[in-house]
Amino acid sequence: MPTERPLGIRVDVDTHVGMRDGVPRLLEVFAATGSKATVYLSMGPDRAGRALLNLLKPGFLTKMRRSSAVSVYGLRTVLSGTLLPSRPIATAFPEIARRVAEQGHETGVHAWDHRTWQDRLLQLPAERIHRELDRGRAAYRQIFGTEPPTFAAPAWLSNDVSLLHEETFGLRYGSDCRGLEPFLPSIGGRVLTTPQVPSTLPTLDEHLGWQAATAAEYFDAMLELAETQAWPVLTVHAELEGGPYAEALGAFLRAAPKRGLRPVALGTLLDQRRAAGPLPVHEVVHAPVEGRHGVLSHQGRELAA
Ligand SMILES: [Zn+2]
Repeated sequence: MPTERPLGIRVDVDTHVGMRDGVPRLLEVFAATGSKATVYLSMGPDRAGRALLNLLKPGFLTKMRRSSAVSVYGLRTVLSGTLLPSRPIATAFPEIARRVAEQGHETGVHAWDHRTWQDRLLQLPAERIHRELDRGRAAYRQIFGTEPPTFAAPAWLSNDVSLLHEETFGLRYGSDCRGLEPFLPSIGGRVLTTPQVPSTLPTLDEHLGWQAATAAEYFDAMLELAETQAWPVLTVHAELEGGPYAEALGAFLRAAPKRGLRPVALGTLLDQRRAAGPLPVHEVVHAPVEGRHGVLSHQGRELAA
């Protein structure tokens, strides 16, 4: 048996249906495999249907076809916030949210309005970004009666304004970007005290139907990749791995310990990283990712601490 290393599992809940159906199914998969995870909840309106507006943006149609969004999300979700009124996400199901915590998983805030953030963050004025974060935080407090320990920016997209505002929340950490290992972000020469625990592995929707023919093939590749990384973090979606790909995720979570990887919440991975020595300081940069529209935030080059 090889020495066990943590494999961070992060769940993003993006839609009403993902919260209602996907989260309970993921809890079953985690319980059956003895896995722990950090579950990031979108709180406010489900405007997934606004994705349709993105049809005008290049590359979106390919992505829509690849993950066959209508079959995965259901027509009600795809129309939500466009032809039909938006439905709330986590705030509609506080008892499901609390069950996540009761089963020993970590919970955090993903978004207030996921689509607004994802589509327009880089154009939003600072006050609007603050308001999105504040509303997500208030909704979390209402559900759990405590401060959120962590935030994860929708679409791994953050900027200086959002990171600096999160810094005022006293979070244990954020997960607002892609990268290689936990680090402290530096913004304009100021090193923040809120560490980042980045997602290190590509997501299922980025690879399916392109890099990988099946979900099983994708998860095999992720196991191999995780073995090469010091602090691997996989992001799964309530709508996908908590939906049609739940079985494939279960197989992955059962296989991981045989490869010396223990599926844990991101806070657990961070604790182990901190025990190994001080975190490095990195800048945060924007860059595209294959299989995903627009730019994402990334752990940039390392700076002197
Ligand atoms: Zn999301």
